[in-house]
Amino acid sequence: MTHSKTGTIHIIGGGIAGISSAYTLTNHNYKVCLWEKEKLPCMYASSRNAAIARSYESDPVLSFAVKKGLLQMIKAEKYTDEFIKKIGLLFKPLEVDYYEDDFISRFPEAEILKSSSKNFQYNQEYSFDGLYIPANGTLDIHNIQQYLLQNMIKKNILISYEHKLIEIARKNNLITNLVFVTPNAEKKIEILENDIIVNATGSWAADSLFNLNYDPLPVLPYKRHLFQLSFKENLNLNMPVLWDEQSDTYLRPEGKTLLATHCDENETNPDDYNLEEREVEKFQSSIINVYPFLKNCQIKNYWACLRTFSKDNRPVVGFDAHIKNFFYAVGWGGRGMSLAFEIGNLVSRRIQVGYNENETENDNPYTSFRFL
Ligand SMILES: Cc1cc2nc3c(=O)[nH]c(=O)nc-3n(C[C@H](O)[C@H](O)[C@H](O)COP(=O)(O)OP(=O)(O)OC[C@H]3O[C@@H](n4cnc5c(N)ncnc54)[C@H](O)[C@@H]3O)c2cc1C
Repeated sequence: MTHSKTGTIHIIGGGIAGISSAYTLTNHNYKVCLWEKEKLPCMYASSRNAAIARSYESDPVLSFAVKKGLLQMIKAEKYTDEFIKKIGLLFKPLEVDYYEDDFISRFPEAEILKSSSKNFQYNQEYSFDGLYIPANGTLDIHNIQQYLLQNMIKKNILISYEHKLIEIARKNNLITNLVFVTPNAEKKIEILENDIIVNATGSWAADSLFNLNYDPLPVLPYKRHLFQLSFKENLNLNMPVLWDEQSDTYLRPEGKTLLATHCDENETNPDDYNLEEREVEKFQSSIINVYPFLKNCQIKNYWACLRTFSKDNRPVVGFDAHIKNFFYAVGWGGRGMSLAFEIGNLVSRRIQVGYNENETENDNPYTSFRFL
């Protein structure tokens, strides 16, 4: 059953998943309201990430999605400032992207995403052999966010900041009301026929608020630390992003500094953005082992943030199996920023198809029904 455009799509969460969905849905003439608990959009994972544009992906579904997302970004760059600083990505993958050639044969403009063997030498003291992708690199996440938000504002989309969803009422298999807390008061809104509620709440995706008497969706947040490194001497930072999946480390230039991580990944609760001192020691020992030219670096700054994964690591995009007007756009793991332009397409496509009580993974590889 296709979905009628007479209702309103209520998107909960103004991170990249929420604003990408809102941007695309308004382009398809849906009426959209975006609800965000903070004073600004993208205060969590969508701003505190490593901002790496990476098209190589071993999961066949994600392999196509990230490539499509990055190609759209490159296309849109013609009309605005650069989204991707194409310094290239050199990496040692753990698993092969078997779908790279298939994608390029279908979309010849994707040739720039083709990987080939390359060596990187640093001052004769360090050598990195890997696969190189020239059109990957670092993302200007601020520019991406502004582009999506400004286009939404032009379409008169209603964005309500400082509105935290705290209660959901349902009758049978439909949500009937949402209650938000704002700085001044509580606000209750009625959900009408043909309205849809989109859960784009990042690490809060499986908050008890959304249980609605059924088993929670198996999506969990995992904490990761990022470190900004500075140097006393002048280091040549003219390098691609270096990503070694075998030692589980990556680093990339950030102005006159480097951004790096030892890829820590600890399950936690959705509100836990606290720094863990023990990770500093782990980072220092592992990163200098892998990249000896960093031996004189200093940690200038570091922070922790949450990457949210489903049980099979694939995002969840589609209607809830039980509640027919409740939709998920969650579980973007470590790829949400590279997918910034594709998330909205995935969401909009499934909303156009509408709720299907017999949905299978053949119909929708991102279906929430796969966890039943
Ligand atoms: C350390 C780290 C490094 C990363 N590096 C990369 C990278 O290099 N490349 C890449 O492509 N991706 C990367 N990612 C992944 C990417 O950042 C995420 O996939 C993406 O930001 C997730 O976006 P989101 O919108 O789902 O979540 P969020 O950005 O967390 O947004 C969720 C929003 O929902 C709001 N919200 C929650 N609950 C409520 C409520 N009850 N009511 C109203 N609003 C609510 C929150 O306030 C928040 O604004 C990284 C992530 C991390 C943590």
